[in-house]
Amino acid sequence: MHFVLKLAGLISFFCHSSYPLLYISNTACGSGFFKAAQGDHKCLQCPINSRTTSEGATNCVCRNGYYRSDSDPSQMPCTTVPSAPQNVISIVNETSLRLEWSPPLEGGGREDVVYNIICKSCGSGRGGCTRCGDNVQFVPRQLGLTDTSVHINDLLAHTQYTFEIQAVNGVSDQSPYSPQYTSVNITTNQAAPSAVSIIHQVGRAPNSITLSWSQPDQPNGVILDYELQYYEKNQAEWNSSLTRSQTNTAVIRGLKPGTIYVFQVRARTVAGFGRFSGKMYFQTMTEEEYNSSIQEKLPLIIGSAAAGVVFIIAITVFIIVCCSRRGPDSPESDNTDKLQHYTSGHMSPGMKIYIDPFTYEDPNEAVREFAKEIDISCVKIEQVIGAGEFGEVCSGNLRQPGKREILVAIKALKAGYTDRQRRDFLSEASIMGQFDHPNIIHLEGVVTKSSPVMIITEFMENGSLDSFLRQNDGQFTVIQLVGMLRGIAAGMKYLCDMNYVHRDLAARNILVNSNLVSKVSDFGLSRFLEDDTSDPTYTSPLGGKIPIRWTAPEAIQYRKFTSSSDCWSYGIVMWEVMSYGERPYWDMSNQDVINAIEQDYRLPPPMDCPSALHQLMLDCWQKERNNRPKFSQIVSTLDKMIRNPNSLKATTPLSSSVHLPLLDRTAPDFSSFSIVDEWLDAIKMGQYKENFTNEGFTSFDVVSQMSMEDIIRVGVTLAGHQKKILNSIQSMRAQMNQITSVEV
Ligand code: AMP
Repeated sequence: MHFVLKLAGLISFFCHSSYPLLYISNTACGSGFFKAAQGDHKCLQCPINSRTTSEGATNCVCRNGYYRSDSDPSQMPCTTVPSAPQNVISIVNETSLRLEWSPPLEGGGREDVVYNIICKSCGSGRGGCTRCGDNVQFVPRQLGLTDTSVHINDLLAHTQYTFEIQAVNGVSDQSPYSPQYTSVNITTNQAAPSAVSIIHQVGRAPNSITLSWSQPDQPNGVILDYELQYYEKNQAEWNSSLTRSQTNTAVIRGLKPGTIYVFQVRARTVAGFGRFSGKMYFQTMTEEEYNSSIQEKLPLIIGSAAAGVVFIIAITVFIIVCCSRRGPDSPESDNTDKLQHYTSGHMSPGMKIYIDPFTYEDPNEAVREFAKEIDISCVKIEQVIGAGEFGEVCSGNLRQPGKREILVAIKALKAGYTDRQRRDFLSEASIMGQFDHPNIIHLEGVVTKSSPVMIITEFMENGSLDSFLRQNDGQFTVIQLVGMLRGIAAGMKYLCDMNYVHRDLAARNILVNSNLVSKVSDFGLSRFLEDDTSDPTYTSPLGGKIPIRWTAPEAIQYRKFTSSSDCWSYGIVMWEVMSYGERPYWDMSNQDVINAIEQDYRLPPPMDCPSALHQLMLDCWQKERNNRPKFSQIVSTLDKMIRNPNSLKATTPLSSSVHLPLLDRTAPDFSSFSIVDEWLDAIKMGQYKENFTNEGFTSFDVVSQMSMEDIIRVGVTLAGHQKKILNSIQSMRAQMNQITSVEV
């Protein structure tokens, strides 16, 4: 019985371990065999994927590419790293994501495969991906996942991410190569803002409470306003009142004295309302409290008033004495002039106005005044993301003492610069440093004390608006596009208010951040740009190169650059945004554009463009510049549209656009196409040519009968593309019907 058991054990070891035993009595083991200890033991054949390097081996070394973990016994086969996980499925829900996958085909001969997730956020497809920050949450965790799924939260809205799912096992850390992975690209959707985390009571009276609250951690867009809900604590919640506030403070009036109220607040963006904050309790003053607080404050109020009077008298005496002592040439008058820069003009006292850095005798002084010097040791350059006029633009990190590390864009001045180039390069920082507005690119500082000289600004994850829109053709709601347009208009309004005379929207770059907030950037000297390489640049009658398609006629003809010419350019930018980066006036030459405008031709509405927006464009393109709207009016018009999305429902039907002066390229003439591929190219959907052919949609007869289901079936998954193709098919049908009825 005992013998049988032993034999059974031996057989089972033999089968499971799949390496045979050989008994060689008390002699050194031969090649391919090993004996762990000296003595009368059996020599064991080297486990799979291992070999001996000499006779009489006490262990077998793993073959190349195979390893043993520290805890693997020497009789165990050597194992290798796993292959990549398979069949990754990603399910995006707003700014959350679930990833599921199947285990790798090859576990490397081990049972201890686990998974790591690497998250990279990728800008606007300019090849720049950076590791995600700590704020992204992984459930159950990011590394060492034993299950084949993970839930990822707190991603940024409207951002492209690449997730790499690595398969690792007990020997992965011994391999000199990185673990094998499968990657998946996703783009998050729009999302409502996150919840407001805290509400403070700023003041209270018997009938009112003043509250202020923090911005949501993740606004996911421009906050349009906040909604405050409140009710008496001992009343039912459904009895609550609502109030709106455009800022993060509100005075809630009409309350009962000495009563506890429950408050909750939520933010709203174009994506809708975020979640309400937690409930916070605040109590109004009782009448007694109020009266006694007045009595307590009375001596203080009287004291302050008296002190104020004494202070004013002292200041008046001081000014009289100083003025009588100082002549007009006194050295301080320079400073006074500089101060006047800030307060002169039609502006309210204290409001800053722009100072041209070139009015400084020493432009370095302007840099010192308006830009903060940053120590190069705080800057970490990651990768090149673009090319500017003076050198490369890189992304990187800025970690300043006592501040959180932030992503930044770094413009570096290329080597071999002249003094003039250095001055011109840094003038951008002297200009930007004077601005402080959510829709103007923010200057972090400059590096001038080491080489290369750098300008460091906030980083805009989605890069240039035009290329961002081209890459995401048809992917945004009208409200989101209007949100982006509003940002540009608000930035321009600020520049006008600052009296920034060189604002030329036509020569500026608009950048977009991960929250789809657009900001005006590029305050370099590129005032007159090379418009286009294929077309000889139009030189204005007064000299200088002008971006013709974006520029108002009076600015082209006699260089009349004003807020009104910026308004014209803004109209063109609106058209570009609503057509997802189409080139204004398509392939018309500059001279043809000038002639067409002169003859009152204007761009037609882009496809699906709400009539109200096209009307605003036409307003911006009024010949008489004083009739064009001011940026403040544009901002409020767009705000109204955002608040009342119904106003954006009406679009110009394709058929009625025939009367529009410029040819509408969005509705091509189908008779000019001989094959379906040509039509797909013309509507910028050429990437689906193969899909159409594979599914047999190869003639206009069948294509014109396609339904939305057919479009989905051929593999068009993006909603914007589905809509674009369906719209074009509908007008194709309409044109075909017209032709048939004429023929009949
Ligand atoms: P600019 O010289 O300002 O026109 O910059 C050249 C290019 O660099 C732009 O078209 C962008 O693609 C990129 N770039 C410039 N500034 C930034 C920024 N703050 N964030 C992200 N990309 C930027």
